[in-house]
Amino acid sequence: MKETAIYVHIPFCDHKCIYCDFYSIVSYDNLNNYLTTLKNEIEFYASNERNNREIISIFFGGGTPSFVEPSYIGEIIESIQSNFQLKEKCEITLETNPGTVNKQKIEKFIEAGINRVSIGIQSFNEDELKFLTRIHDKETALKTVYNVKEAGIDNISIDLIFNLPKQTKEKWKSNLETAFKLPINHISAYSLILEKGTILNKMVLDGKVKLQDDDYDAELYEFTIDEMTKNNFMQYEVSNFSQEGFQCIHNKAYWDYKDYLSFGTSAHSFANGKRWWNVSSLKMYITMMNQKGNAVIGEEILSREQMLDEYIMLALRGSGLDLTELKNIFGTKWIEINKKYLDTLLLNNFVEEKNNLIKLTPKGYAICDEILLNFQ
Ligand code: SF4
Repeated sequence: MKETAIYVHIPFCDHKCIYCDFYSIVSYDNLNNYLTTLKNEIEFYASNERNNREIISIFFGGGTPSFVEPSYIGEIIESIQSNFQLKEKCEITLETNPGTVNKQKIEKFIEAGINRVSIGIQSFNEDELKFLTRIHDKETALKTVYNVKEAGIDNISIDLIFNLPKQTKEKWKSNLETAFKLPINHISAYSLILEKGTILNKMVLDGKVKLQDDDYDAELYEFTIDEMTKNNFMQYEVSNFSQEGFQCIHNKAYWDYKDYLSFGTSAHSFANGKRWWNVSSLKMYITMMNQKGNAVIGEEILSREQMLDEYIMLALRGSGLDLTELKNIFGTKWIEINKKYLDTLLLNNFVEEKNNLIKLTPKGYAICDEILLNFQ
C-alpha cells in the first residue's frame, strides 16, 4: 500500500486579497454543483486506485474552506472514507480564515472529521492587515485561535507573512511574540512574494507600493529562524516550524516525495511518477467533469533525471537527504559528482551530516535556493 496524501480545493472566498494568486472566486452560485462534482472526481480516481493506497492526510485548502458549512466538508470526508482506505490516525486539516468561524462552527467541523486547523492570520498588526486587504483584525485573529482551541482542536497552525512593505524588524518581532503566546503548535512563515497577475503586482508596477530589498528579506528570514528556535518551534522545512510532534504530515508528504491526489479546480496531483493538473475555472471544471469524467488540462511524465532533481530539492528543503535511500533509488552517480561540493557545504556549516542524512543548517536554509542551484 502506498502512503498517499489527498488535497481538496475549496475555491470560494469572501473577496480577493491583493497578494493572492490562488484560484479563488467570490461567487457562491455553484456551491452545490461543486460538491457533487468533487464527489464524482473522488470516485473517478478511486475506481483505479482504491486498493493500492493508504491515505495518511487530507487537506482542505483554498480559497476559504471554512466558509462552507461543516456538513459540506463532512460529505467530502465521507466520500474519501468510502472510496479509499484511511490510515488510523489520518491527519485532516481545514484551512480557515479569522472571521469565518466561531466556536460552534469549529465543533461541527470536528464532528465532520477535522482534527487539525490551519489559520490564515498573516499578521497581528492592524496596518499590515489593512494593507493585505484581509477581512479580519488582530482581535478577531486572537479570538479565532482560542475558539479553535476551546472547541477541542489540539493541533493548530497559523500562517504569517514577513517582509511586508515598510515592515521593520520590531514590527515583525512583535508579530512573532504574539504568536508564541498562543496555544498553537505550528507556524508557517512566508516572505511576501510578488506574484504576476495579482493586484499587488500592479500596485508595484504603478509605483504605488515599494517592496523591500532581498538583503533585508534574508535578514528577516535569519531572524525568524533564530526566534522560532529560541521559542521551541523547530524548523523542518524552509518556511515551516513546529513544536515537537506537530510537523504537518500533509506538507511532509510533498517534501518526502510521496504520492498525492488532489481534487477540485486548479488541483495538482502527483502519483506513480506522473504529474497532472486540473483546469483553473469552476465552470469549466464542472463542465469537463460532466462531459468526460475528469477535468485534467495538463500532464507530465517525469523522466528519471527530473525525478532525481525533484527528490534532491524536496529532501533538502524538507527533513533532509538520506544518502542511503538516495543510493537505493537512484544509484551512486549523483553523490560521486557532487561529493566535493557537499564537503564544502559541510566544512562551512551550511549542511550537517548525521547517520548518512544530510540536512541544511539554519545558515544553509537562508541560502537554500543558491545551494540547490549549484548541484550538478
Ligand atoms: S482569503 Fe486566502 S485564498 Fe482567499 S483571496 Fe485571500 S489569500 Fe487568496
